[in-house]
Amino acid sequence: MKEKIQKFAELILESENIVALTGAGMSTESGIPDFRSPGTGLWERMDPSFADISTFTRNPTAFYQTMLEIGLNMIKAKPNAGHKSLTKLQKMGKLNGIMTQNIDGLHKRAHTKNVIEIHGTINEAKCMGKCGKIFPITTLVNQLLSGNPSTKCPDCDGILKPNAVFFGEQLPTEALERTDELIANCDIMMILGTSLLVSPANFLPYKALNVDAKLGIINREKTNIDHQCLVVIHGSIAEILPKIVEIVEIEYNKK
Ligand SMILES: [Zn+2]
Repeated sequence: MKEKIQKFAELILESENIVALTGAGMSTESGIPDFRSPGTGLWERMDPSFADISTFTRNPTAFYQTMLEIGLNMIKAKPNAGHKSLTKLQKMGKLNGIMTQNIDGLHKRAHTKNVIEIHGTINEAKCMGKCGKIFPITTLVNQLLSGNPSTKCPDCDGILKPNAVFFGEQLPTEALERTDELIANCDIMMILGTSLLVSPANFLPYKALNVDAKLGIINREKTNIDHQCLVVIHGSIAEILPKIVEIVEIEYNKK
């Protein structure tokens, strides 16, 4: 393990344009349940059609009755040592940006810049009505907590929904375009806490390989891309990433 941590740090040290792709394993230590993990994932205990956009628009009240508590926990969650390590790397000029599958907003709360939220974010609410405006999530939460069974846009009375991508909804095109731009010039992609089972995240490492970038991965389980990675570490991000960044920092301070 020690050698792998060293090797991962060396990869970062010798690279100029570093990007990270992150998934649920990034936020485990922040107490956020993985929605898709076999055995423990939320969608194994709960019918995923709950988070289907057509179910939601038909009956937002039913959605909130089930999901409000989970949502509130996510909003209250704090960045862990893994998120903070990425911010540190970025301050040393060793992280250009992050593409994340997570909707928890924790990268932004850890003050990392250039974060692309492929599946949207729970930190915002979006009006599905005429105006289509984005509001802070508190606009929606305050309505729910004051006893409103469903939530309305303050401007146009449209349905207000969390700005995370529901099943059956299109991914934000702008975010996808930004991932392409981010990958276009990268020389290493760090894959962190994702088993790469969900599109489009599962394609992104191949896009990096196409521009001759190197790959390094930290994930609890094996993935289909492991054999393409120069370093493969199976373990916890919050535990391992700070150790890697510590080595980078020591070298960085020597310069
Ligand atoms: Zn509106």
